[in-house]
Amino acid sequence: METKQFKAESKRLLDMMINSIYTHREIFLRELISNASDAIDKIYYRALTDESLTFDKENYYIKVTADKVNRTLRIVDTGIGMTKEELENNLGTIAKSGSLAFKSENELKDGYDIIGQFGVGFYSAFMVADVVTVISKALGSGEAYKWESKGADGYTIEPCEKDSLGTEIILKIKENTEDENYDEFLEEYRLKSIIKKYSDFIRYPIKMDVTNSRLKEGSETEYEEYVEEQTVNSMVPIWRKNKNELTDEDYNNFYSEKRYGFDKPLKHIHISVDGAVRYNAILYIPENIPFDYYSAEYEKGLELYSSGVLIMNKCADLLPDYFSFVKGMVDSEDLSLNISREMLQHDRQLKLIAKNINKKIKSELLSLLKNDREKYEQFYGAFGRQLKYGVYSDFGSHKDELQDLLMFYSSKEKKLVTLDEYVSRMPEDQKYIFYATGASNERIEKLPQTELVADKGYEILYFTDEIDEFAIRMLMSYKEKEFKSVSSGDLGFEAEEQEKEAASEQQDNKDLFERMKEILAGKVKDVRVSKRLKSHPVCLSTDGDVSIEMEKILSAMPNNQNIKAEKVLEINVNHEVFDALKEAFASDQDKLGLYTHLLYNQALLIEGLPVEDPVEFTNNICKIMV
Ligand code: ADP
Repeated sequence: METKQFKAESKRLLDMMINSIYTHREIFLRELISNASDAIDKIYYRALTDESLTFDKENYYIKVTADKVNRTLRIVDTGIGMTKEELENNLGTIAKSGSLAFKSENELKDGYDIIGQFGVGFYSAFMVADVVTVISKALGSGEAYKWESKGADGYTIEPCEKDSLGTEIILKIKENTEDENYDEFLEEYRLKSIIKKYSDFIRYPIKMDVTNSRLKEGSETEYEEYVEEQTVNSMVPIWRKNKNELTDEDYNNFYSEKRYGFDKPLKHIHISVDGAVRYNAILYIPENIPFDYYSAEYEKGLELYSSGVLIMNKCADLLPDYFSFVKGMVDSEDLSLNISREMLQHDRQLKLIAKNINKKIKSELLSLLKNDREKYEQFYGAFGRQLKYGVYSDFGSHKDELQDLLMFYSSKEKKLVTLDEYVSRMPEDQKYIFYATGASNERIEKLPQTELVADKGYEILYFTDEIDEFAIRMLMSYKEKEFKSVSSGDLGFEAEEQEKEAASEQQDNKDLFERMKEILAGKVKDVRVSKRLKSHPVCLSTDGDVSIEMEKILSAMPNNQNIKAEKVLEINVNHEVFDALKEAFASDQDKLGLYTHLLYNQALLIEGLPVEDPVEFTNNICKIMV
């Protein structure tokens, strides 16, 4: 018989499993039982929608049997089974190759990491077994097949005999070594406790032959042993249990059991509603950003069950995009089982549930913000951007729902603050909520444009995320306070005197400014006396709706429509440089040209924009040095 090779990455994974130093080997049983349960789910669901099949619950179970003498552990299920092709495809290659590819070679060397990070399913059997045999007969197929592998060398498939539908997995448990004890996986009590720990809520009975003792018939002192088949799991799904009965560990186990994520959940939300629509849900906010979260492959959605039967893996309609990071499941008795995907979208019950869930997630996040700031900031660090996209998208239609969840770095507090905190601290004379944009907090801190606002004692929010300003433009105001960029033309607090002074300076030097504007034709819309600069000679500000940051972002987009900010070069007339400009204007037009270009380029640099002609710029600097 021919031995077939595993696909390359499966082989790598197998090697790791076999040589694993992982301490939680026991999870192999959880993985195999989950697969068995999924296989029964499939046949169950098929029977519910296919009249020619009948599903008699009695006949569906998982059985775990240990044989100490032969060192085998058998896991039998009465599920949908696998055809020859399925055995080959499902067990010969690893399903989640994407997640494996994501990890660097380096990380892969350490088996610990990958097992902790990714559910590796079936392959985990090789952590405890030398030989793994899978015998399976699939629904609708007359033949059974036997798949067998001793590990990384490959596997064989051949026809075999099997009466009933389903799958039987036989593990030849490894011999104990000096450091490792494998016997435990043949011990009844140990197996029972592993099943209880990880698979208690599996909806089908997990049976085991358990040895008991009883008084011998007719005797009052002599005992005899007998074997009895027992159901080990309680079968009550965790979402039907009472919240007070459940511990954080239970929720965390369910999270990894379901492979919602490879991290730990940051927070769980358990909902039981018995109102206009009845449902139970367990939702999770992951601790980390899923590796594919910002890729096109990422699919949002919750598992959807109808009275305990899984009807959809990822029901997208249950989650708005801005909460797409939420994982979990919903079970409702009020949904019809054989509902199709298209019908589901219009289902009134489902809409109600979605609305309800949305509200609940929001209120849980708000309470996290209130009661556990540190955790909320951790959450916000991972998914805050998604909330900001939520404010911006759909023409701002969700902004009211989301605005209280936003946070920005504050110039005063030197940490993240909410808009509510900002507004409640505003001095009475402050008209606007001020913000400044830039590549980093450090860069913004040094922006000349922030000087005057900061001098006034006003707090400034720092926008370092590309989406920030777009989201805020959508929001427009918070608690009736408008947002205002520190770079915008009118800051709303220049004293009348300053206004007058600026206007008269502008008037007095009208010709100079006109000339500079000509020199910078096509680059700036205007050259003006600055009302905001204190110690810096120049800066750029903008007229109109498009800020310089927005221009940068828009021009980096693939369908760039060449949208430009209307830039204004502001000159600090109290700076010595201004005197030099006036002198040049009076005596040396070439010099004026040189100075104007230099100042303009400096202003670009401060904004984090590239100078237009770096060679010319450095040449110009040399010119004034010699
Ligand atoms: P995953 O369960 O994450 O997809 P596994 O490696 O555990 O990855 O299993 C791969 C596939 O093999 C499963 O998706 C399923 O299609 C099939 N499979 C595994 N175990 C069984 C089983 N007991 N009965 C039927 N199919 C199974």
